[in-house]
Amino acid sequence: MTDLTTPATADRQDGHLKRPAISFEFFPPKTEEMERNLWETIKRLAPLEPKFVSVTYGAGGSTRERTHSTIARILKETALLPAAHLTCVGASRGEIDEIVDRYHEVGVRHIVALRGDPVGGIGTPYSSHPDGYQSSADLVAGIKERHGDIEVSVSAYPEKHPESRDFDADIDTLKAKVDAGATRAITQVFFDNDLYFRYLDRVRARGIGIPIVPGIMPMHNFKQARNFVTRNGTSVPDWLAAKFEGLDDDAETRKLVAATVAAGQVQKLAKHGVDTFHFYTMNRADLVFAISHLLGIRAKSAQKAA
Ligand code: FAD
Repeated sequence: MTDLTTPATADRQDGHLKRPAISFEFFPPKTEEMERNLWETIKRLAPLEPKFVSVTYGAGGSTRERTHSTIARILKETALLPAAHLTCVGASRGEIDEIVDRYHEVGVRHIVALRGDPVGGIGTPYSSHPDGYQSSADLVAGIKERHGDIEVSVSAYPEKHPESRDFDADIDTLKAKVDAGATRAITQVFFDNDLYFRYLDRVRARGIGIPIVPGIMPMHNFKQARNFVTRNGTSVPDWLAAKFEGLDDDAETRKLVAATVAAGQVQKLAKHGVDTFHFYTMNRADLVFAISHLLGIRAKSAQKAA
């Protein structure tokens, strides 16, 4: 079993695992209240010194401006390094290129490049824009051609993407994205670590050496989260559902259980040498902060002076 996120040997310092690297994912807020909430979250999580923070791009490009303004505000008001998500959906190549150029102009040097979901929603056939980027690999190549100094991350699917014929087809797509210039993959959420390790074995066997960073989602609201993730092809094991049984009306206990489950997952991954984690924060700080703390990560202000 391959047990590392990166091809290098797990870094150890004096017999202790090195501080893991973390990153956080946010979505662009829709209302002023959501905006205030997001900024409280960012302020709480920033002292954990994530490697980068990413901001999603709504289905069909629906949040184009909001993603941009959130990214621009992060650049202006914090020391965090933002990564802008971008999809190929619903836009011509020229329009996407303009978005990329605008990001580059304001100082963004990291894009998470995706194909995106079909315009008709998950489960309907995907058709690319006639004048657009035809695939995620095509988009990666387009970004790298325009701005070689933009780092490009892409998606990866430990349970394979629902549209993929089989794992080989799925990993062929990942290989094409890497060949086009992607240097990091972030996985779709998963709850069974064995699925991740098996996927990593397949990816490494295919000669793909880039970090495959596990995407971790603490489930604040189990029922809602289950509906959301299963639509994206993530399986929810029975043992996990059992942990939330009877807690539908007990948000407080659900929160403790969610933190315990996600902390257990990341600690087990770390024990097997995984040293990089990407958290789907759902714009909430509490659980992600606690889980990071359990991984040994301390807020900058809480660290002892050297
Ligand atoms: P790809 O990596 O290009 O393809 C995924 C798999 O689907 C491939 O392995 C391939 O085998 C198969 N496939 C692709 N195209 C076809 C086809 N035409 N026919 C048959 N099989 C095909 N969505 C958003 O809208 N906004 C976001 O900000 C966003 N962020 C994401 C971040 C991460 C880390 C992840 C994992 C997903 C994110 N998504 C986002 C969801 C993503 O857009 C969808 O999963 C989409 O359906 C696939 O895009 P992709 O780039 O992952 O696909």
